[in-house]
Amino acid sequence: MAEIRCTKCGNKIYIDPFSLPYKGEVACDNCKNVMKVDLSTSYFVVETNHPDPYDDFSNYYWWKISELERHSITEAALSLGSGAYTASEFMSLRTLESVCRRYYKKVTGKDYKGSWASIIEEMAEDPQFKSYTGALHYFREVRNRVGHPEGTSSKLDAESSYKMSIRLAKELVDKLEPIAKNE
Ligand SMILES: [Zn+2]
Repeated sequence: MAEIRCTKCGNKIYIDPFSLPYKGEVACDNCKNVMKVDLSTSYFVVETNHPDPYDDFSNYYWWKISELERHSITEAALSLGSGAYTASEFMSLRTLESVCRRYYKKVTGKDYKGSWASIIEEMAEDPQFKSYTGALHYFREVRNRVGHPEGTSSKLDAESSYKMSIRLAKELVDKLEPIAKNE
């Protein structure tokens, strides 16, 4: 009997040798993680189909971001898994932009009135946000890439924007008041 291991929980998943070769998806019975697999009689390749934004944020932070932000980062993760890298970066950026708006309001006491994603640009130039300048400059580049009519994102671009948007969102959320349940 052939077996693979779940990339998330380590559970053993048995593969019927008569079904080989097989290329497609396998779900873990234990944790429901879906993996992309390429199984031949001589080699097994197992990849997690998409990152899990709940795990990447952790339970603690997951409930400190808004419903819109949870939705956006989930779409970023799903797009990443299906190879839609530009769409994924766009949604990672949108997640961060939403957190930035809340943080901007907390620091300046006013609502941000500018257009979508221009908040990244504004915060990158504002000395009040200088502790985040490095990350904000990175996201300004991302914004230019996804906002450009001919721009496309690579897998690496999408993966780093996904990770970095979560990292910066967590830092900013730590400074924010808890959000009301219905926000
Ligand atoms: Zn599992």
